[in-house]
Amino acid sequence: MLQRKHSKPGATLGKTTGWIHRLSLRQAGVEMLSGVEYDSIDDQGLHITVGGEQRLLAVDHVIICAGQNPNRTLADELEDGTRTVHVIGGADEARELDAERAIRQGAELASRL
Ligand SMILES: Cc1cc2nc3c(=O)[nH]c(=O)nc-3n(C[C@H](O)[C@H](O)[C@H](O)COP(=O)(O)OP(=O)(O)OC[C@H]3O[C@@H](n4cnc5c(N)ncnc54)[C@H](O)[C@@H]3O)c2cc1C
Repeated sequence: MLQRKHSKPGATLGKTTGWIHRLSLRQAGVEMLSGVEYDSIDDQGLHITVGGEQRLLAVDHVIICAGQNPNRTLADELEDGTRTVHVIGGADEARELDAERAIRQGAELASRL
C-alpha cells in the first residue's frame, strides 16, 4: 500500500476506526510505503521511486484511490430562491474520511433549525 504523502499511511483516518484498519493490514503482512513517486505501470509491474531509489514492484493488480469530489447537484437544483438549502457532510466536503465532521455538522444544523 503506497502513498505520495510522507506521513504514516492512514494518519488522517477517523479516530474511531483508523487504528483498526492499520492493525488489520499489518497483521495481513501488507507492506506500507510513504513518500512514493509513481513512475510507470507496465507488464513488469509498478515502477516507483522511494527516497531517491528506483524500485519495481512485480504486482499484477494496481488499485488507484484518487480521491472524490462532493456532488452538489441536488442542492443546486433546490436552490431556486424560494427555500433555504443546507449542505452538510460528504455533500459539503468529500475530502479525506471524516464521519465525525459530518455527524457534528448534522447535529449543529439540527439544533439551529
Ligand atoms: C470507503 C470509505 C471508508 C470510510 N471510512 C471512514 C472512517 O474510517 N472514518 C471516518 O470518520 N469516515 C470514513 N469515511 C467517510 C464517511 O463515510 C463520510 O464522511 C460520512 O459517511 C459522510 O456522511 P454523510 O451523511 O454526509 O453522507 P453519507 O453517509 O454518504 O449519507 C448520504 C445518504 O444519502 C443518500 N442519498 C444520496 N442521494 C440521495 C437522494 N437523491 N435522495 C435520497 N437519499 C440520497 C445515500 O444513499 C446515503 O444513505 C469513509 C468513506 C468511504 C467511502
